[in-house]
Amino acid sequence: VLEIRNLSKKFGEREVLKDISFNVSKGQVICLIGSSGSGKSTLLRCLNLLEKPTTGEIDYRGTSILNPGMNLFQYRSKVGMVFQQFNLFNNLDVLTNCTTGQMNVMKTEKEEAKQRALSFLEEVGMAAYIHARPSQLSGGQKQRVAIARALAMEPDVLLFDEPTSALDPEMVGEVLRVMKQLADSGLTMVVVTHEMQFAREVADHVIFMDQGVIAEEGAPEQIFNNPKEDRTKVFLSRIL
Ligand code: ATP
Ligand code: MG
Repeated sequence: VLEIRNLSKKFGEREVLKDISFNVSKGQVICLIGSSGSGKSTLLRCLNLLEKPTTGEIDYRGTSILNPGMNLFQYRSKVGMVFQQFNLFNNLDVLTNCTTGQMNVMKTEKEEAKQRALSFLEEVGMAAYIHARPSQLSGGQKQRVAIARALAMEPDVLLFDEPTSALDPEMVGEVLRVMKQLADSGLTMVVVTHEMQFAREVADHVIFMDQGVIAEEGAPEQIFNNPKEDRTKVFLSRIL
């Protein structure tokens, strides 16, 4: 679905991503791991075009997304993103949070948008809260609404940037469960996470980033049980 070739990103003189290449195939779950500052969020933001790569290519279904004519809103509905800080519209209730994007970007009729929102809110266990404001919800509930909102756009790929790291510990599980359920249902996902147990259980492929490069990648069993690179070993020994 996505093909990333020789991507690099500079902020001023600082090169924070260097020559990154990998593919995201349909139905695949890729987990991105690595220490703070290694470039994981920047990479995800490039995939979503919240940042523009300095050099390199990103193809979505065989077409470059870096063409000037690209419709960003449309693209972001197909390659959606779930943020650490939820980014819900605080002045709108849960249901409206999940319908506005559909109506504005996909031009879906109101009734259909509502029905679709309801079915995804049900899927994440939030159907009972459609009239609540985000401020009335716990962090875990907000994140589940944010996931339902992204799903309502019928994305080809969902990008998650540390979706549980702003949550109180007791709420991490409910969000990871929803994400596992989505993975099992065949959704294509790229997940930046510090939840190594999740990466081990759910990922098809793990990418370990260090100082802006892919230092090592492979199946979770290989990365976690038998890492080849010293820096992977050091990282895992610190985090596990
Ligand atoms: P964390 O685990 O802490 O979230 P990360 O792997 O997501 O870290 P990034 O946020 O991608 O790391 O940051 C990579 C590097 O790029 C860091 O050194 C950061 O300071 C720098 N950086 C990120 N965004 C910008 C920006 N907008 N302007 C300048 N430098 C930036
Ligand atoms: Mg980050």
